[in-house]
Amino acid sequence: MKLTTKIFIGLLGGIIVGLLLQSNPHIADTFIKPIGTLFLNLIKMLIVPLVLSSLIVGAASIGDIKTLGRIGGKTIGYYLFTTAFAVTIGILLSKIMNPGLGLSMSVNMDVVAAKEAPPITEILLNVVPKNPMKGLVEGNMLQIITFALFLGIGATSLPEEKSKPFISFFDSLAEIMYKITGLIMSLAPIGVFGLITPVVASNGTDVLLPLIKVVVAVYVGCVIQTIFVYATTVKAFAKYNPIKFIKGIMPAATTAFSTTSSSGTLPVSIQCIKENVGVSEKIASFVLPLGATINMGGTALYQGVCALFVAQIYGIDLTISQMSTIVLTSTLGAIGTAGVPGGGLIMLSVVLTSVGLPLEGITLIAGVDRILDMARTSVNVIGDLAAATVVAATENELTYEEANRRLEKTIA
Ligand code: ASP
Repeated sequence: MKLTTKIFIGLLGGIIVGLLLQSNPHIADTFIKPIGTLFLNLIKMLIVPLVLSSLIVGAASIGDIKTLGRIGGKTIGYYLFTTAFAVTIGILLSKIMNPGLGLSMSVNMDVVAAKEAPPITEILLNVVPKNPMKGLVEGNMLQIITFALFLGIGATSLPEEKSKPFISFFDSLAEIMYKITGLIMSLAPIGVFGLITPVVASNGTDVLLPLIKVVVAVYVGCVIQTIFVYATTVKAFAKYNPIKFIKGIMPAATTAFSTTSSSGTLPVSIQCIKENVGVSEKIASFVLPLGATINMGGTALYQGVCALFVAQIYGIDLTISQMSTIVLTSTLGAIGTAGVPGGGLIMLSVVLTSVGLPLEGITLIAGVDRILDMARTSVNVIGDLAAATVVAATENELTYEEANRRLEKTIA
């Protein structure tokens, strides 16, 4: 049996067992959740060394500053454009489905906005680490990316005999991380089971029903974004069969769904895009670590839906200019959102504040946030993978035949 099938069985098993344990969620929390946590910790263990090493090698292998600028420009352009599109889809869906209308829920003022989000300017200024070692120790991904890019660029401007040992070291480190990923992923079916069961057991139908329209709006939006933005651009730019693409990246999408962490999914994303889709190492190791940190189409879409939802439950009519502000803050906020579980919920407070919406609305959403996080994280990761495929195609770094041959094997 293939790994993807096994992961699906783990996912399905987790949902069934979770539903059965709904009246005793503590059983799931005590006995099953630790298995999930262990799996998550194993994956997290790889993130910092993987991002550092793969981006150094990625930037160094792209070589000159001009090419790096071109590839970086395409990557960031794709991320910003598709993210802005995603928020717009979210806003439109909320306009059509009106998830907040007729909802009368008492808001608990005590739990309101417990987590303060920093202002956008501060997030953007913090991208440059004053002390890169601190950034590494704290796992601050934006700072790690900046430092790694500078190291990669610096290394290429040295004579080869000076830069070679440095680049070779990080190249080996990245390869070792990929190998460990493979080992850890063989545990994914059990890990996924351990992650999903407690979520289903404690987010039973009671929490879900009043907010079911928000959940439906976010899930529908995620499907639209995946098909009409990501699969379509992959087809248009890379001439890649969208169904094959989706099948190839399935292990990464399901890992994102169950771990709700883009950064946590990064090792699997890199493996899938190279082995199943045929994107070169050079593009994968540059585009994906960047995307896992700054590209959050799913999160932006969710913020669009939720901002309108909050406005609706408080009977506030948003003007066109307020909606444009939501598009802007969500797009920029997505860059600052950490690729960790619940990162988007914190950033939602920035978006609500930007248009003067009451932060109390967040408490309602917090109850179902995990369910929403599963969908938006999958879309975030699918967006990274689509970007890598599109950029690789435009750079002639996509090996169709090899990819197709491998895909036939994986799918068969
Ligand atoms: N969990 C998301 C991710 O890792 C971020 C979010 O909460 O929206 O991509």
